[in-house]
Formats: sequence, C-alpha cells, structure tokens
Amino acid sequence: MSRDGQRAEQIKQLCADLEAAKELSADVLLRQIQEIGFQCQRCGECCTGDDNSVVVFPFEVRRILAAAGLQWLEAVEPPKEGEWDRNGCFHTLEWRLKKEGASCKFYSKTACGMNGFVVCRIYESRPLICSTYPFYLDRGVLHFSECRGLGGMIEPDKAKELAKLLILRYVTEIREAVALLEKYEDFERGGPEEDGRCIVHDSEGAHSIFR
Ligand code: SF4
Ligand code: SF4
Repeated sequence: MSRDGQRAEQIKQLCADLEAAKELSADVLLRQIQEIGFQCQRCGECCTGDDNSVVVFPFEVRRILAAAGLQWLEAVEPPKEGEWDRNGCFHTLEWRLKKEGASCKFYSKTACGMNGFVVCRIYESRPLICSTYPFYLDRGVLHFSECRGLGGMIEPDKAKELAKLLILRYVTEIREAVALLEKYEDFERGGPEEDGRCIVHDSEGAHSIFR
C-alpha cells in the first residue's frame, strides 16, 4: 500500500476510535481507577530521567507560554526521533516539553524534609499527559505506567475528575492525530546535512526551525 493509502487507513481507524471514545463512561473508568488505586507520592519520578518525554499539543503549548511568559522554543523542543529529507532537513512529529539535563524544564525540587518537595512550576497549565499520569487509555482500555502512587487510596471525587480527564485526553489525542495526518505532507527520504533545518509536523501543519 502507498504511504498516502496507509495514511487514509490510519485516519479511518482513528475516526472509528473517536466514535467509540464518545461512548466511554466516566463512571466505569472511575470504578476501574478506584480498584487499581492511586495516590501521588510526589516522588517526581515521572518528571525526571531519560525516559521522561512529555508530548505536548499546540493548544497546550500556548497555555504554557501564557502562564510561564516564555517563547515557543523556550518551552518545547522537537523529539530526537525522525527522518531526513533529500535537502538534509530533519522531519519529526509533535513537540515535547523542553528538558534541562534529565528533568522536565518545569520540574523543581525544593529542600523540605528528608526527601524534598517536588514542584511542577506550571501545575495549573500542565499538559493532559501529566494531569492523568500514570493512567492512559489505549483503544478505550485503561492502562497505567510505572508509578509509586499505584495502589494508594483515592477519593471518589478525585477518581471521577481523573476519569473525566482521561477521556478528554484520549479524545484530544485522537483529534490531534487526525489533524496531523490530514495536514502531513510526505517527502523523499535523504540524509543529514550540516545546515539542514528541523521540520516539526503537528496538528497545525509543518514548522521549520533551526537545529
Ligand atoms: S504520579 Fe507517580 S511517579 Fe509521578 S510524582 Fe506521583 S507518585 Fe511519583
Ligand atoms: S510539566 Fe510538570 S508534571 Fe509535567 S513533567 Fe514537567 S514538571 Fe512534571
């Protein structure tokens, strides 16, 4: 199948997933979350380390920029995975929150007690992936990532809020993926060049930045 054909199939599948997502019940998810259990221990492990890579959508980037008073490339960066075109430009998908060393740029740990006190400096504006961690939905099924808070006691109100956010995140991820695929323009593959640019494809189109 051609790349265009594959893309059309992907969009079709995503649209079917979106229709199914509209049927998801926050009450069912709430009960599943309560059965698994969760209470954040504020260890900060989801904000640090080589695996920390926070996907952030354009509307979320704007919210963060407004809250933090930053320019686009001060808050986010392209991921390292991608492909080169024949002009030596590096193409990649979606933005990630910028990192400083091994940590998210917005993570800080203040001295307080033995283990310190973890702070997200954009807490009210943090992306959906952060506000729903460690849970996520895949094809409508609840999954969770590694987290010290799993198994903890969660209040019904908090579980309900989390369930609603998870559905919002899932629907948003599907819509963003459809928009990205619809706007995506394919290119002939090539190799790296010294002065090639980086092209980031997202739901709003292709953005060219210096590497
Ligand atoms: S969500 Fe989990 S990994 Fe992240 S700070 Fe809370 S307990 Fe730690
Ligand atoms: S935005 Fe906040 S919650 Fe998300 S990874 Fe960064 S510091 Fe952690």
